[in-house]
Amino acid sequence: MHYYLWTIGCQMNFADSRKAAEELAQLGYQEANQPQDADLILLNTCVVRQNAEDKVVGRLTSLQGLKRRKPEIKLALMGCFVDEIPELQHRYPWVDAFIKPSDIPAVVELARQKDIQDFIPEFPVAQDHPPVSVGVPISYGCDHLCTYCIVRLRRGPEVSRPVDEIVSEVQDLARRGVKEVTLLGQNVDSYGHDLAGMDRGTAGSQWSPDLADLLEAVHQVEGLARIRFLTSHPVDMTERLIETAARLPKVCEHMEVPVQSGDDAVLRRMSRGYTVAEYRTLIARIRELMPGVGLATDVIVGFPGETEAQFEATYRLLEDLRFDMVHVAAYSPRPDTPAERLPDDVPPAEKERRRKALDQLQSDIAAKLNSGLLGQTVEVLIEGQRKGRWWGRTRTGKLVFFEDEADRHGHLAQVRITWTGPWSLIGAPAKAIDSQ
Ligand code: SAM
Repeated sequence: MHYYLWTIGCQMNFADSRKAAEELAQLGYQEANQPQDADLILLNTCVVRQNAEDKVVGRLTSLQGLKRRKPEIKLALMGCFVDEIPELQHRYPWVDAFIKPSDIPAVVELARQKDIQDFIPEFPVAQDHPPVSVGVPISYGCDHLCTYCIVRLRRGPEVSRPVDEIVSEVQDLARRGVKEVTLLGQNVDSYGHDLAGMDRGTAGSQWSPDLADLLEAVHQVEGLARIRFLTSHPVDMTERLIETAARLPKVCEHMEVPVQSGDDAVLRRMSRGYTVAEYRTLIARIRELMPGVGLATDVIVGFPGETEAQFEATYRLLEDLRFDMVHVAAYSPRPDTPAERLPDDVPPAEKERRRKALDQLQSDIAAKLNSGLLGQTVEVLIEGQRKGRWWGRTRTGKLVFFEDEADRHGHLAQVRITWTGPWSLIGAPAKAIDSQ
């Protein structure tokens, strides 16, 4: 039995797909490289912007012919595309199952329906090369009501997983050779607020764990070398969280703190809950407590009513704050969001001009920041090999390639940087600092 898995979207989707793939492997499935070789096709989808939704529809349409020729193949659609199921069934009758985001048990149930009991091996199928870095969802959904965002509508309000459950998953991953975990959520900084009613030990007191507590707990997992977390929300990032992240040696100096706009009026219309000045103060504090931190942010250009001056304010903010990475998106109206009711009055060509201007600015900034690493030795966790070169990331999240005869999979290595570009670095091994 074979499955074909196609994933687009956020890291949460990729984490869901990894879990689905693991479950399918336990059931005796192997991965197919193309849909026509599969018994089960799973499309894990995103609708955060119109172009992501278009890709999903394109994929679904292209699979219609295959389903006609081979109706025995099961086709399942999972993720944020899945909204009103009866309507989707009507529109895409060749799809066998619609599965809500993160509903892995539903994938398992569908895979079991394939009458494959004879194929289920007595022992779980062993994976040949365990992944080095894995995303671990710590909360599902989101409690913020950003006016442009469809995620809350598709994924629901925030639900945190209990600390013990997350820690035991990370322990299991570490036992299987995983060296780095990224704790994932739409907004990790508000982790735990819904886990009320736990006793901290002092008589009668009630306590909810927060992300700082979770970092402390995950930090104790043996065999784990690195911890990251994303995505943060500026409103929920506390001093305690920054201080804890800075203090714990396994927590990497790397944060993703979306700003979305450099103009207060636009931020208000987006319902982001902070001003540009408050955001600047937060970034300054992170940099103070975590010197050399790698910082990433998200920006939307062409939000309804965004004037040239408001766009320029965003441009200047990025110029000033000099992030390591900026994800720039052109605003895309999403069904049933409050912003959908505002006139989408920045023409597509102007959105594209603004997007390209920020991309160009960021490319120049990243090139300059990275050139400062030339000749320096950095710690790289090696995640795999691509075109004959090993690749991995620095603690600050930068992608590094280097050549080495030895098998370096999963090792922490010291790499001396010999070439830098805006998006990646090339180096040569200085020395291995651990051996598995
Ligand atoms: N929770 C984070 C935050 O603070 O916003 C990020 C998660 S969000 C799902 C991923 C990114 O997609 C956002 O940061 C935003 O830049 C972008 N995005 C969301 N809705 C969008 C829309 N309607 N049009 C364009 N970009 C959008």
